[in-house]
Amino acid sequence: MTIQWFPGHMAKAKREVQEKLKLVDFVIELVDARAPLSSQNPMLHQVLKQKPKMYVLMKKDLADPVRTEKWLDYYKEQQIPAVAVDAGEKQDVQALIIVAKQMAEEKMERLKRKGIRPRPARAMIIGIPNVGKSTLINRLAKRKIAKTGDRPGITTNQQWIKVKKDFELLDTPGILWPKFEDELVGYRLATIGTIKDQLLPLEEVAAYTLNYLQSNYSNMLASRYQLEEVNNNTEELMEHIGRLRGCLESGGLVNLEKTADVIIRDLRTGKFGRVSLELPGQ
Ligand code: GDP
Repeated sequence: MTIQWFPGHMAKAKREVQEKLKLVDFVIELVDARAPLSSQNPMLHQVLKQKPKMYVLMKKDLADPVRTEKWLDYYKEQQIPAVAVDAGEKQDVQALIIVAKQMAEEKMERLKRKGIRPRPARAMIIGIPNVGKSTLINRLAKRKIAKTGDRPGITTNQQWIKVKKDFELLDTPGILWPKFEDELVGYRLATIGTIKDQLLPLEEVAAYTLNYLQSNYSNMLASRYQLEEVNNNTEELMEHIGRLRGCLESGGLVNLEKTADVIIRDLRTGKFGRVSLELPGQ
């Protein structure tokens, strides 16, 4: 199954990002630390061309820390600057600024060598909806910048936020939609709450989530739902959880939709612990 976005909408978003790109020296792409690959925008690669890019793995506080380290190692091997950030942690935001400043310095050095007078390096934040763009811009600006909304076409006058003397950030992010031919990508984004619940059947998303937890985080699953052993049968597991959590209909039947909702909310709110849905090289 493929989720189709409105093609006109996407083309417009892409054009807007292309316009803004002309204004900046490098790009800060935000992805979700729990699914860095699925939350990446596949279109960005062609739009960026030669523009340097750094990655920020947002919502690090919700992701599996061991896996986040693996992702950071992976980006290092690819020679792509990357940091993991919990927007609530000042030191994470500071670490990001240091990496961004290094990228800015490289640009300034190049200008200097060409005999051009250095000016502050300029960057913009890009990412799919809900990844944490506005939150991060507010942290970097140390004030609240109005959210422009996840719809292209709502452009206000752009302003530059002076993050450091020699580093400025565009106050409006570039928004690109996820595009997924692969249904797994859809399930991952739905599980972490990046795409609207109405886009995919909740029970299918919950079955994917349970399946993933069974194979990768069985201890967490067992402790959350008081399981003596983790049953590999997803349907039986759903039944068990439904009964345990009182998701019942008259007559004592388990309401699977309510059960699915419980499982997904538990994951999104970190009730299992810190979980990531992807590993590099998979
Ligand atoms: P945008 O659509 O990309 O601008 O995303 P927002 O900045 O509006 O963030 C989407 C949601 O993610 C909000 O509920 C934020 O509070 C939350 N959020 C952003 N950054 C973080 C983070 O580092 N950790 C956690 N746990 N939540 C975050």
